[in-house]
Amino acid sequence: MDFSRGRSINSDAFAGLETWEDPTPRPSPFTFEDLRDAFVEASKRQMRLRPKSPSREDLMIRRQEHDRKSLVMALNVYAKQNNMQPSELELVEIMQRNLIDEYGKGYVHFNFTVKSLDGTVHLFFAEVHPDCREVEDVYHCTALNTIDSGHCIGCKDRASDLQHPNDGGYLGGHKDVGFPFMEYDDSDSAGEDEWPTMIGLSEGDK
Ligand SMILES: [Zn+2]
Repeated sequence: MDFSRGRSINSDAFAGLETWEDPTPRPSPFTFEDLRDAFVEASKRQMRLRPKSPSREDLMIRRQEHDRKSLVMALNVYAKQNNMQPSELELVEIMQRNLIDEYGKGYVHFNFTVKSLDGTVHLFFAEVHPDCREVEDVYHCTALNTIDSGHCIGCKDRASDLQHPNDGGYLGGHKDVGFPFMEYDDSDSAGEDEWPTMIGLSEGDK
Protein backbone atom coordinates (compact mmCIF):
# COMPACT_ATOMS: atom_id res chain seq x y z
CA MET A 1 0.00 0.00 0.00
CA ASP A 2 1.25 3.42 -0.86
CA PHE A 3 1.31 5.58 2.26
CA SER A 4 3.32 8.42 0.85
CA ARG A 5 0.25 10.06 -0.68
CA GLY A 6 -1.68 9.76 2.53
CA ARG A 7 1.05 11.46 4.50
CA SER A 8 1.14 14.38 2.15
CA ILE A 9 -2.63 14.87 2.58
CA ASN A 10 -2.23 14.62 6.32
CA SER A 11 -0.15 17.74 6.32
CA ASP A 12 -3.02 19.94 5.16
CA ALA A 13 -6.19 21.07 6.88
CA PHE A 14 -8.24 18.15 5.61
CA ALA A 15 -5.95 15.53 6.96
CA GLY A 16 -7.83 12.50 8.07
CA LEU A 17 -10.71 12.81 5.64
CA GLU A 18 -11.18 10.04 3.19
CA THR A 19 -11.19 11.21 -0.39
CA TRP A 20 -12.51 9.69 -3.59
CA GLU A 21 -8.98 9.26 -4.80
CA ASP A 22 -7.82 7.60 -1.63
CA PRO A 23 -10.56 6.09 0.50
CA THR A 24 -8.04 4.56 2.88
CA PRO A 25 -9.27 5.23 6.44
CA ARG A 26 -6.70 7.08 8.49
CA PRO A 27 -6.70 8.46 11.98
CA SER A 28 -8.57 11.68 12.54
CA PRO A 29 -6.38 14.63 13.46
CA PHE A 30 -8.97 15.40 16.18
CA THR A 31 -8.80 13.52 19.40
CA PHE A 32 -11.90 12.49 21.29
CA GLU A 33 -11.10 15.21 23.82
CA ASP A 34 -10.99 17.84 21.04
CA LEU A 35 -14.45 16.84 19.89
CA ARG A 36 -15.79 16.70 23.40
CA ASP A 37 -14.43 20.17 24.20
CA ALA A 38 -15.85 21.55 20.97
CA PHE A 39 -19.23 20.06 21.77
CA VAL A 40 -19.20 21.46 25.31
CA GLU A 41 -18.18 24.89 24.04
CA ALA A 42 -20.91 24.86 21.38
CA SER A 43 -23.48 23.80 23.96
CA LYS A 44 -22.44 26.59 26.29
CA ARG A 45 -22.74 29.10 23.48
CA GLN A 46 -26.16 27.79 22.64
CA MET A 47 -27.23 28.25 26.24
CA ARG A 48 -25.89 31.79 26.31
CA LEU A 49 -27.77 32.67 23.13
CA ARG A 50 -31.03 31.23 24.40
CA PRO A 51 -33.32 34.01 25.63
CA LYS A 52 -33.64 33.75 29.37
CA SER A 53 -37.10 33.86 30.85
CA PRO A 54 -37.36 36.97 32.99
CA SER A 55 -36.75 36.53 36.67
CA ARG A 56 -39.34 37.28 39.32
CA GLU A 57 -37.52 40.53 40.10
CA ASP A 58 -37.48 41.53 36.41
CA LEU A 59 -41.21 40.92 36.20
CA MET A 60 -41.83 42.97 39.32
CA ILE A 61 -39.78 45.90 38.06
CA ARG A 62 -41.39 45.74 34.65
CA ARG A 63 -44.85 45.68 36.18
CA GLN A 64 -44.05 48.62 38.48
CA GLU A 65 -42.86 50.66 35.51
CA HIS A 66 -45.98 49.74 33.59
CA ASP A 67 -48.16 50.68 36.58
CA ARG A 68 -46.52 54.08 36.91
CA LYS A 69 -47.00 54.78 33.21
CA SER A 70 -50.65 53.72 33.45
CA LEU A 71 -51.25 56.01 36.43
CA VAL A 72 -49.51 58.98 34.85
CA MET A 73 -51.89 58.48 31.94
CA ALA A 74 -54.82 58.21 34.35
CA LEU A 75 -53.75 61.47 35.99
CA ASN A 76 -53.58 63.16 32.60
CA VAL A 77 -57.17 62.08 31.98
CA TYR A 78 -58.18 63.37 35.41
CA ALA A 79 -56.39 66.68 34.80
CA LYS A 80 -58.18 67.15 31.50
CA GLN A 81 -61.58 66.39 33.03
CA ASN A 82 -60.91 68.94 35.77
CA ASN A 83 -59.43 71.65 33.56
CA MET A 84 -56.01 71.28 35.05
CA GLN A 85 -52.57 70.97 33.51
CA PRO A 86 -51.01 67.50 33.86
CA SER A 87 -47.99 69.22 35.42
CA GLU A 88 -50.16 70.26 38.37
CA LEU A 89 -50.38 66.65 39.54
CA GLU A 90 -47.47 64.49 40.49
CA LEU A 91 -47.75 60.76 41.10
CA VAL A 92 -46.04 60.03 44.41
CA GLU A 93 -46.60 56.43 45.39
CA ILE A 94 -48.69 53.41 44.47
CA MET A 95 -50.34 52.25 47.67
CA GLN A 96 -52.63 49.43 46.55
CA ARG A 97 -53.09 47.44 43.40
CA ASN A 98 -55.46 44.68 42.46
CA LEU A 99 -56.07 42.94 39.17
CA ILE A 100 -59.65 41.84 38.62
CA ASP A 101 -60.65 39.25 36.07
CA GLU A 102 -64.30 39.09 35.16
CA TYR A 103 -64.82 36.35 32.63
CA GLY A 104 -61.76 37.38 30.65
CA LYS A 105 -62.27 41.11 31.02
CA GLY A 106 -59.49 42.62 33.07
CA TYR A 107 -59.40 45.69 35.27
CA VAL A 108 -56.72 46.97 37.57
CA HIS A 109 -57.79 48.97 40.60
CA PHE A 110 -55.27 51.30 42.21
CA ASN A 111 -54.93 53.52 45.21
CA PHE A 112 -52.08 55.97 44.84
CA THR A 113 -50.98 59.26 46.26
CA VAL A 114 -50.74 62.44 44.23
CA LYS A 115 -49.05 65.69 45.11
CA SER A 116 -50.60 68.91 43.88
CA LEU A 117 -48.80 72.19 43.22
CA ASP A 118 -49.29 73.46 46.77
CA GLY A 119 -47.53 70.38 48.11
CA THR A 120 -50.59 68.66 49.58
CA VAL A 121 -50.86 64.94 49.01
CA HIS A 122 -54.17 63.29 48.13
CA LEU A 123 -55.24 59.69 47.85
CA PHE A 124 -56.57 58.74 44.42
CA PHE A 125 -58.42 55.81 42.93
CA ALA A 126 -57.95 54.66 39.34
CA GLU A 127 -59.27 51.84 37.22
CA VAL A 128 -57.36 50.99 34.07
CA HIS A 129 -57.10 48.21 31.52
CA PRO A 130 -54.34 45.76 32.53
CA ASP A 131 -52.46 46.61 29.36
CA CYS A 132 -53.07 50.34 29.61
CA ARG A 133 -51.51 52.15 26.65
CA GLU A 134 -53.77 55.02 25.69
CA VAL A 135 -56.32 57.28 27.32
CA GLU A 136 -59.16 54.96 26.30
CA ASP A 137 -57.63 52.36 28.62
CA VAL A 138 -58.24 54.62 31.61
CA TYR A 139 -61.73 53.76 32.81
CA HIS A 140 -61.85 55.94 35.87
CA CYS A 141 -59.61 58.22 37.89
CA THR A 142 -60.69 60.30 40.84
CA ALA A 143 -59.51 61.80 44.10
CA LEU A 144 -60.79 60.05 47.22
CA ASN A 145 -62.19 61.37 50.46
CA THR A 146 -61.56 59.60 53.74
CA ILE A 147 -65.24 58.62 53.85
CA ASP A 148 -65.08 56.85 50.48
CA SER A 149 -65.66 53.12 50.75
CA GLY A 150 -67.32 52.08 47.51
CA HIS A 151 -68.20 48.42 47.15
CA CYS A 152 -65.98 46.18 45.04
CA ILE A 153 -66.36 42.42 44.92
CA GLY A 154 -63.12 42.10 42.95
CA CYS A 155 -61.07 43.69 45.72
CA LYS A 156 -62.85 42.64 48.87
CA ASP A 157 -60.86 39.43 49.36
CA ARG A 158 -57.61 40.19 47.64
CA ALA A 159 -57.14 43.86 48.48
CA SER A 160 -59.58 44.68 51.24
CA ASP A 161 -57.75 47.92 52.10
CA LEU A 162 -58.13 49.27 48.58
CA GLN A 163 -60.49 52.22 48.76
CA HIS A 164 -63.09 52.88 46.05
CA PRO A 165 -65.09 56.04 45.43
CA ASN A 166 -68.57 56.08 46.98
CA ASP A 167 -70.14 57.37 43.79
CA GLY A 168 -68.86 54.46 41.70
CA GLY A 169 -67.79 55.17 38.15
CA TYR A 170 -65.59 52.09 37.88
CA LEU A 171 -66.55 49.24 35.58
CA GLY A 172 -65.02 46.21 37.25
CA GLY A 173 -65.61 44.69 40.64
CA HIS A 174 -69.38 44.47 40.45
CA LYS A 175 -69.63 40.84 39.39
CA ASP A 176 -69.15 37.91 41.67
CA VAL A 177 -67.19 35.70 39.33
CA GLY A 178 -67.26 32.92 41.87
CA PHE A 179 -64.02 31.14 41.06
CA PRO A 180 -60.49 31.62 42.28
CA PHE A 181 -58.39 34.19 40.60
CA MET A 182 -56.42 33.00 37.60
CA GLU A 183 -52.81 33.83 37.10
CA TYR A 184 -51.70 35.15 33.76
CA ASP A 185 -48.77 33.21 32.47
CA ASP A 186 -46.61 35.51 30.42
CA SER A 187 -43.73 33.13 29.93
CA ASP A 188 -44.54 32.88 26.24
CA SER A 189 -44.50 36.61 25.62
CA ALA A 190 -41.50 37.97 27.37
CA GLY A 191 -41.87 41.23 25.48
CA GLU A 192 -43.44 44.36 26.85
CA ASP A 193 -46.90 43.39 25.71
CA GLU A 194 -47.89 40.94 28.36
CA TRP A 195 -50.43 41.55 31.01
CA PRO A 196 -48.90 42.09 34.37
CA THR A 197 -48.54 38.86 36.26
CA MET A 198 -50.12 38.28 39.59
CA ILE A 199 -46.82 37.44 41.22
CA GLY A 200 -46.21 39.44 44.35
CA LEU A 201 -49.00 41.93 43.98
CA SER A 202 -50.33 44.23 46.62
CA GLU A 203 -49.27 43.88 50.22
CA GLY A 204 -52.42 41.98 51.05
CA ASP A 205 -51.92 38.82 49.07
CA LYS A 206 -49.94 35.67 49.61
ZN1 LIG B 1 -61.80 47.10 43.32
